[in-house]
Amino acid sequence: MNTIGVVGAGRMGSGIAQVMAQAGYDVILFDISNETLQNALENIKRHLQRALELGTIKKEQLQGILTKIHPTTKLKHFISADIVFEAVIEDIEVKRKIFHELDDRCNPTTILATNTSSLSVTKIASVTENPYRVIGTHFFNPPYVLKLVEVVKAQHTSDDTVEKTVSFLKSIGHSPIVVKDSPGFIVNRISRHFYLEPLRAYEIGLAGIEEIDSAFKLFGLEMGPFEVIDYVGVDVNYIVSRSIYERFNFEERFRPVAFQTKLVEAGLLGRKTNSGFYYYVGKEKKLQDFFKREKINYKFSKKFLNLADTICKKILSQKDNLNDSQKIVVALTVSMIINEAYYALMENLALEDDINLAFRLVKFPAGPFELAEQIGLKNVFNFLNLAREELLSERYKPALLLAKKLS
Ligand code: NAD
Repeated sequence: MNTIGVVGAGRMGSGIAQVMAQAGYDVILFDISNETLQNALENIKRHLQRALELGTIKKEQLQGILTKIHPTTKLKHFISADIVFEAVIEDIEVKRKIFHELDDRCNPTTILATNTSSLSVTKIASVTENPYRVIGTHFFNPPYVLKLVEVVKAQHTSDDTVEKTVSFLKSIGHSPIVVKDSPGFIVNRISRHFYLEPLRAYEIGLAGIEEIDSAFKLFGLEMGPFEVIDYVGVDVNYIVSRSIYERFNFEERFRPVAFQTKLVEAGLLGRKTNSGFYYYVGKEKKLQDFFKREKINYKFSKKFLNLADTICKKILSQKDNLNDSQKIVVALTVSMIINEAYYALMENLALEDDINLAFRLVKFPAGPFELAEQIGLKNVFNFLNLAREELLSERYKPALLLAKKLS
């Protein structure tokens, strides 16, 4: 590989361009307006200056990296690219139009990669004459910090395209894991439950937003689920949840909560609007008044409460500080993450070790199967079955593979 193309100079596109230029490649960076391109270059410069302060790059390197990025508003310049990373807005029609054009304009050997988080790579590839060279490369935000890349093998992606993409990503110091094309791939799909369970727990009045966020800090996470949603964008989180739910034919365990739709409609999008689940004034954050509510004092069986306690004891640093509702939310969330990992394994989407690795690379305290081992799979299975009864919901039904591992 010599020249890299990047289509879309937003948050991810500019981050990918930075990674490639830092690795020494010439990068052609495309967007629809010069203004967006200029903003992207400014952002990259800012990130590089930060890297300079942190000592991860040297002063003489900074200008060199910047001169490797060549902004353009014309796709015809992509003729010389060996691989093109597409990172435009998450809209299937926009992406399909771009791939159709790239297929036309690029050299026949150019690999065409999409950074989509939740769309079908196969459907994007289907507009090209040569879908064998189309692949998903799902980087994580920000790509110059998080090394994980889900390399998505679509229906027609050739083994050669997969091998070349994997070895290229490894050569620049990233950590690719190969996954099959399926809704949300691995990380977004399995981690959906990190958002959906806490959202539902708040919706049914089981626990408060701050109460839930603080409980997850004991799990070794820097931010709780609501804080993360505000950070990535309430709308972005919702679009991914919605897309996964629809692509799973409205499977109950992926159903988004209605009040998140309202938040998006009201333009309360999180940190970017200074207002989401929390509102932000400078470095301070406070829970929105309209999210303050009385909890409902649900009565749960002793068996259920004891098992929530046992699960928390196995994975939290100081579980004694937690009340029963916090323990239930943490135990439900972690059990659902493990359950989803078994669904993914059952569907042969990725290798067990790769799934664990992916979660560690996105700074989760441990991979789902490692957590299952820590907790004991029998405990997870029993807790899910009890949750099915206690919370009257079929979404807690254990995955067949999880159940069969015990028999
Ligand atoms: P963004 O909104 O920051 O950037 C999108 C860019 O696409 C904008 O600069 C816009 O001008 C450009 N664009 C729109 N239409 C275009 C067109 N027709 N041709 C060329 N450029 C066009 O979005 P983002 O957060 O960078 O996300 C980009 C992609 O990466 C999406 O597919 C998203 O799902 C995926 N992704 C995002 C994240 C994340 O955390 N933001 C993480 C992983 C993957």
